[in-house]
Amino acid sequence: MTSPATDAAGAPDLPEYAPVPAIAKGAPLNEHGYHVWQVERNLYAVTDNVYMSAFLTTPDGVVIFDAPPNIGHNIRRAVDEVTAANGLTNQVTHMVYSHHHADHQGASSLFGGDIVRIGHEETRRLLLRDNDPARPVPDVTFSDRYTLEVGGERVDLAWHGPNHSPDNIYIHFPGHDTLMFIDVVNAGWIPIYNLNLSDDVIGYTGATAIALDYPWTHLISGHLGRVATREDVAMHQQYIADIEASSREALASVNPGPIFKHYGENVWAAVRAHLDAVTEHAAAPVIAKYTGVLGGADIDIFTWTTTFAIMQSIRLDRGPSGPVHP
Ligand SMILES: [Zn+2]
Repeated sequence: MTSPATDAAGAPDLPEYAPVPAIAKGAPLNEHGYHVWQVERNLYAVTDNVYMSAFLTTPDGVVIFDAPPNIGHNIRRAVDEVTAANGLTNQVTHMVYSHHHADHQGASSLFGGDIVRIGHEETRRLLLRDNDPARPVPDVTFSDRYTLEVGGERVDLAWHGPNHSPDNIYIHFPGHDTLMFIDVVNAGWIPIYNLNLSDDVIGYTGATAIALDYPWTHLISGHLGRVATREDVAMHQQYIADIEASSREALASVNPGPIFKHYGENVWAAVRAHLDAVTEHAAAPVIAKYTGVLGGADIDIFTWTTTFAIMQSIRLDRGPSGPVHP
């Protein structure tokens, strides 16, 4: 048995990619490994350049929006740094969950049991199901809308249907010109595998229009190093629209006949060859168009898997799935 090739530092023999475009870069991190900045007035974002969390400082206490374990104890350090500089209490009184996923809430237990936790009713149901002590279940839940008022500030939470996850909500800060909406748009980067590991293709692809219906200048989108702009959302929408158009073209132009004839009774082999051919045909021009434009665009498995999911949704959700036998 041979071991995988490694480089001089002992890392596996890893592929190289195009340089990360300037649009995809975050700010330098401090000695603890985080960067915190003022988004608008008393609303702050904190990142490790992979994950992003946010918090609101008020005279009555701090409200935290998501607690990714990647940032972990640095959320507390960022809150302490900002509240000390502004002479405000560092007491965390409320926590809002954008959705139930552990990679965004797995540090929420660090803030103890004596705070108000707010989330969608589906978030509560899924967290009861998952039974993870790192993610205490929200006690305040809502079905469609909820307005949080703390220390003279207002935050509007809304659920507009499933998208990335069944419970992913829109968090609007009307007094801060900001929307927080997680795991759909990545500022300056393409989505990772399978539309950012999303459950609902139609919900995911339609969510950005809902997000743009809100008034905002800053979008806190949960990942990477900077807050998104409306232009970032438009660029993401164009990437998705290009995949949709390319998938339709590929479904129409790749002929499955010879593939099925070749494989005979091995029907699954033919299905695999046909769907892979459609996916590669559809993804290739998109990968070429966005390489050097958006971060990660030349990591072709990300666009392949997203294209595969969209191409299947075109067949299965929108229809028709194929021609009707005569
Ligand atoms: Zn998620």
